[in-house]
Amino acid sequence: MDKKEKLTDLNKKWTEECECELKKTATQAVPGDGSSEADIVFIGEAPGKKEDELGRPFVGAAGKFLDEMLELINITRENIYITNIVKYRPPNNRDPLPEEKSQCQEWLLSELKIIRPKLIIFLGRHAMNNFFPSLTISEAHGKLLIKSFKDIATKYFFPLYHPAAALYDGSMRQVLIEDFKKIPKILIEIKKREEIKN
Ligand code: URA
Repeated sequence: MDKKEKLTDLNKKWTEECECELKKTATQAVPGDGSSEADIVFIGEAPGKKEDELGRPFVGAAGKFLDEMLELINITRENIYITNIVKYRPPNNRDPLPEEKSQCQEWLLSELKIIRPKLIIFLGRHAMNNFFPSLTISEAHGKLLIKSFKDIATKYFFPLYHPAAALYDGSMRQVLIEDFKKIPKILIEIKKREEIKN
């Protein structure tokens, strides 16, 4: 089975078998979306209203802003993979609870194990704190983090402000755009380091 088939199987299995509380109030699951061969995986927080309606991540206002930033660095959605720590919309868009995040953790880790991206980009503090619980997004945004985790092949992580938080906040928006522009160079640097290692 290739990576694409493995991901399709994984998302189907979890969509059918997941028994979390959020499934009861959401319209449908919002699995990750994009290329199984992606160098970069973006991780957001949880689906919002539009995502819940359409069953795809980042298709609302935050998603449009994300697309604009991807265009700035000449990347399309087809080249990357986007997912969320929680795959069902929390009622009224509230923050996902710790137990809801941990119920979805195995699904997320399985996606990462199949794709094995070179770089994982956190969209917002929830995604970052899922892997780096002691960091604050105001200090860590725009800085490359290097860490080995037992279950993940990826060692490089890049936290960003969440596009929804930055959308209507002029200064945060500018910071997010500037951080985003660092992505191509970071990816080149990672690839160089890997070449030297091999
Ligand atoms: N915000 C998120 O964190 N994820 C989505 O899919 C949409 C908005």
